[in-house]
Amino acid sequence: MKLITRLASVALSAFVALPALSQEYSVYGDSLIGHITPCGWLREFLHRQQTGLTGHPEALSYPYNTCLWAGEIERTYESKEAKDWWRYEQTAYYTDGLLRLGYLLGDEELIKKGEDGISYTIREASPNGRLGNKKIESLWPMAVYFRAMKASYDVTHNPQIPAALEKNYLSLTVNDLVYGRRHIVNLEGLLWTYGQTRNPRLLQMAEEAYAKGGFELDAKACASDDMIRMHGVTYSEMMKIPLYLYAYTGKKDYLELALNAQRKMERDHMLPDGVQTSAEFTAGNDIDIAHETCDVTDYTWALGCFLAVTGDARWADRIEKAIFNAGPGAVTKDFGALQYFSCVNQVIATGSSDNNEYRRGKTWMQYRPVHETECCAGNVHRFMPNFASRLWMRGRDNALVCALYSPSEVSVEIDGAACHVSEETAYPFDGRIEFTFHTSRPVAFPFVFRIPEWCGKSEVTVNGKRWKRVLRAGTFVEMNRRFRSGDRVVVTLEMEPEVKMVEGQGVYVQRGPLLFARAIAAKVEEDTTVYPNMSGKRSGNAAFQCLSMTPAEPWNYGVERSRLTKENISVAVDRGRLSVGYPYDPHGVPVKISIPVRRVKWDLLNGTLNPPLPEPGTAQPISGEERIELVPYGSTTLRLTVFPVVE
Ligand SMILES: [Zn+2]
Repeated sequence: MKLITRLASVALSAFVALPALSQEYSVYGDSLIGHITPCGWLREFLHRQQTGLTGHPEALSYPYNTCLWAGEIERTYESKEAKDWWRYEQTAYYTDGLLRLGYLLGDEELIKKGEDGISYTIREASPNGRLGNKKIESLWPMAVYFRAMKASYDVTHNPQIPAALEKNYLSLTVNDLVYGRRHIVNLEGLLWTYGQTRNPRLLQMAEEAYAKGGFELDAKACASDDMIRMHGVTYSEMMKIPLYLYAYTGKKDYLELALNAQRKMERDHMLPDGVQTSAEFTAGNDIDIAHETCDVTDYTWALGCFLAVTGDARWADRIEKAIFNAGPGAVTKDFGALQYFSCVNQVIATGSSDNNEYRRGKTWMQYRPVHETECCAGNVHRFMPNFASRLWMRGRDNALVCALYSPSEVSVEIDGAACHVSEETAYPFDGRIEFTFHTSRPVAFPFVFRIPEWCGKSEVTVNGKRWKRVLRAGTFVEMNRRFRSGDRVVVTLEMEPEVKMVEGQGVYVQRGPLLFARAIAAKVEEDTTVYPNMSGKRSGNAAFQCLSMTPAEPWNYGVERSRLTKENISVAVDRGRLSVGYPYDPHGVPVKISIPVRRVKWDLLNGTLNPPLPEPGTAQPISGEERIELVPYGSTTLRLTVFPVVE
């Protein structure tokens, strides 16, 4: 009886068969968005997006308060430097985020807004099939907008979408795809369309365009061992292109190019919160350099491609690290304001605190609903909906893959049987993950889940009995079983605090996929200054304010490396808060870590800028040892994450 009630509560349409893998060389498919229901803290995060900036484009100002892609966006409010394609790039980011959010939460208003743009874009195609605004030459906005169209297709299976995309790509020449900033990124959509239509001309165009090279991260740049200094977003967008080529051709050379490009990004530019330096160019692994909020979204979008194509668990670990830390760390917890640049250490966030070389002293590190350059204010809507869209994937032989962990439910049809799995967990704040299966009849399929790379000790039980299989950290594990209603699989991942070193810079603490930071109490004031660089743009909703945050307590802490022993680090888990409340709220965090520190001589740069970490060996202690509490990085706005080492 219970099962019938449970199944009846899920929309019947959710039980469509697992979609076929259209990329024949891909291990997993990533198109289960229409089958996934986010729950728990993840649902609350998405809900805050809905009631926050994503649902309030008037607060974001231009170009988000326009018709978006359901018409022509007037060119207003833009600075002299603004490019003609900006407003379409930015609104393409925004549409992808709001449409996915709409589908994940079942919000008809958001869905309609996203779908209206897609209908208009298809209806208003040029006679030769070209999609997108006819007055702009750049093909880059369409490379982004394709993702909104794909999200729509994954839910609606509207045949007009691949048909319109096919005509669009066939209207282009190979040279169109190569010459023009980020035009090559269109290969992502072009190859997806090839997967749907099997028109051999599309695959031929993609291979020819990529072989021509000459764009910023071409095959030669991917293959070399040299450090790449380039625009962070462009790096993420382009490193996955050869991976898509591999997914449709099986040519290993393409795979190697993508893996090498990503390897170099991680080797040369990675920050502890899981996203590369990008201000806006990659700039080494100096923790004083920020990343652009766009990079949280674009890097994890690229990693999702690595995950689906290779089926390698390490990509899921990396996605989680960036999404659980860097993402929420760049927004206020009500999703009412975002930073353009965010830093792992940021002890001040005002209209003049940006310490990066680029736009130094300007508003770019401030939490604001409106930014001078609008890309991040569009891209910020995508990172969590994209993540939620990929929690569950399908694999070969009817496999159901729990690719990324978070509270959620998934409903699919497997071998003619309706199958609903609920994943109850407070992950990433806790390592216990409980899966309960409801099926319309017993059905055999491989259930695939992950033992993360950071996890030293794990255990799996099936209906209360220990599952005796070797569980290797950093791998996906396959459980082959005839699943019956009421079956329960519990995965327990031990989370121990770890002290990590950033070579030649400082130390930080993490536990499982979460980074921990000292949240610095701030004096928060509304900043009503109308900055000349904003071209008059202001939030169109008084509830969404530009904030000025200055430190209201000491933040100048350093650590003695020898004192950071296991015995000196204590973890406090408030089990009540794991299941109630919102773990990213500063006052609701369920896990705290306490460490010994000493205050050191360390001041703001020039009195107003976010200060760089003291050079190694120069942090002079000015007080004795005391203990401070660290909280999950994503719950902070002002924070100290990487501590200088007191010699
Ligand atoms: Zn941006």
